[in-house]
Amino acid sequence: MSPPRLDGKAAIVTGAASGIGEAIARAFAGEGARVCIADVDVAGAERVARDLGAGAVAQAMDVSDESSVEQGVTRAVERLGGVDVLVSNAGLQHLDPIAEVSFADWRRILGVHLDGGFLTARACLRRMIAQQRGGALILMGSVHAKEASVEKGPYVAAKHGLLGLTRVLAKEGAPHGVRANLICPGFVRTPLVERQIPQIARERGLSEAAVVRDVMLGTTVDGEFTTVADVAAVALFLAAFASNALTGQSIVVSHGWHMQ
Ligand code: NAD
Repeated sequence: MSPPRLDGKAAIVTGAASGIGEAIARAFAGEGARVCIADVDVAGAERVARDLGAGAVAQAMDVSDESSVEQGVTRAVERLGGVDVLVSNAGLQHLDPIAEVSFADWRRILGVHLDGGFLTARACLRRMIAQQRGGALILMGSVHAKEASVEKGPYVAAKHGLLGLTRVLAKEGAPHGVRANLICPGFVRTPLVERQIPQIARERGLSEAAVVRDVMLGTTVDGEFTTVADVAAVALFLAAFASNALTGQSIVVSHGWHMQ
């Protein structure tokens, strides 16, 4: 039997009380990592940590707030004995054409995705540099880091921004053995997507089945959703990769939506 791929590693996963982040936290714990479940949803984070048992901890964290991230990462590092892997995954969606997006919604979406990516990556990179044992920064992008869709202006802008941030992190992390990569999933049927289906159906006068088939999966190769397990497998691969050979990349996992 091969040894656990993240044995002895400490990982912080943001937005890990639900969906993709939760699946990543579970996959990491299954491969021997000590995992911090960081989320604004404290009850949800505690539920996942309890389920994972010894070695997992829950941490309240609002990734869009500097002091919350600083305190949360400090506390996680104390409890896990360092940080070797960050998955900056917390996210939200907002649907509105640009002409109708309020400045408050624009800032809220950029705050969680782009400020959150910066604040969590900066806090963990600082610790990784001080620890002198390298590390992996994994940011959660989207096919929308490379493509646009109507009514997703703030989200698309934020995800494109994360692509640039990842590339800079790869260059600045390399001298310290810190790799940075972006995962770009297609549609995954999490609460974030479930909420969009009735809204898009209503606004475009479509059935919910048509939204799924045509709007969400119409450009995949096989009409299938990407799963949380698919994304967790990519995160695990990136977290466990051994050298700087794989850094600064953005990996699309989407059933063929957006081939690059
Ligand atoms: P989800 O709604 O299931 O989970 C998102 C989690 O983020 C929740 O637990 C929520 O409480 C947490 N969160 C929200 N704001 C936060 C904040 N300010 N601070 C800390 N935690 C916060 O959604 P998901 O689909 O699992 O999305 C996870 C990530 O994957 C997001 O970055 C999203 O943009 C990205 N993504 C999702 C899809 C998809 O189709 N579901 C596709 C591409 C990318």
